Amino acid sequence: MKEKSFQDEQFENIEYNLKTINEKIALSAEKSGRTRDDVRFMAVTKTVDVFRINKALDCGIDLIGENKVQEFLSKKPDLKLENVECHLIGHLQTNKVSKIVGEVDCIESVDSLKLANEISKQSSKLGITTNVLVEVNIGGEESKTGLPKELLEETLYRISELPSIKVVGLMTIPPFSQNNAQNRKFFSNMYNMYVDIRSKKIHNITMDILSMGMSGDYEDAIACGSNLVRIGSAIFGPRIY
Ligand SMILES: *Cc1c(COP(=O)(O)O)cnc(C)c1O
Repeated sequence: MKEKSFQDEQFENIEYNLKTINEKIALSAEKSGRTRDDVRFMAVTKTVDVFRINKALDCGIDLIGENKVQEFLSKKPDLKLENVECHLIGHLQTNKVSKIVGEVDCIESVDSLKLANEISKQSSKLGITTNVLVEVNIGGEESKTGLPKELLEETLYRISELPSIKVVGLMTIPPFSQNNAQNRKFFSNMYNMYVDIRSKKIHNITMDILSMGMSGDYEDAIACGSNLVRIGSAIFGPRIY
């Protein structure tokens, strides 16, 4: 009998993991009074090779997230991206904006007015509008990217005046913690801010997406109102840098 190749095994794991995660997303959504279709499932593909990413796409994944501009652009031509959305989720430097605008459907990691300005400027040049999320540093950690929550509202008003960028929601990465109750507190804070801002009906800004929850905490995030979870290692295994 022919032995299974390493790649066959990797592919089987991806298929199995996606199925398991999908079931858990459905359960968590139901617990929060919603359905599976109310929560989007992003496969985070940083450090993952194109073969494994394409396997996940073959299994029905329709949204992927990459952290680095260069890594995404070098893999993009080999990915089966028909009917698939791509988001940039990693910290973006202003000097890389011109390379990524027009190449992704959404930039989830906008954390300053300066960055938003540049995204709008480069989008104008291409004659497009770029959808973005504003990343909030909900834990107030000095080491983390993301906008301090105290600056969120004012920054949103400023961004709303820019011509070629549209904020469609919020994203966050809470402080690392093994403590679920602690995590849920941050997620709930985010949800409250999201609902509060939505109620203000700021011109040119919609609150459609609340992106929070990763491999270790997506069930809690959904329970607290997330509608987009970003999952990497629970699909593809530990990352090898
Ligand atoms: C890497 C990463 C993820 C996925 O992390 P996992 O713990 O592997 O699921 C999600 N969001 C962002 C912004 C990331 O950088």
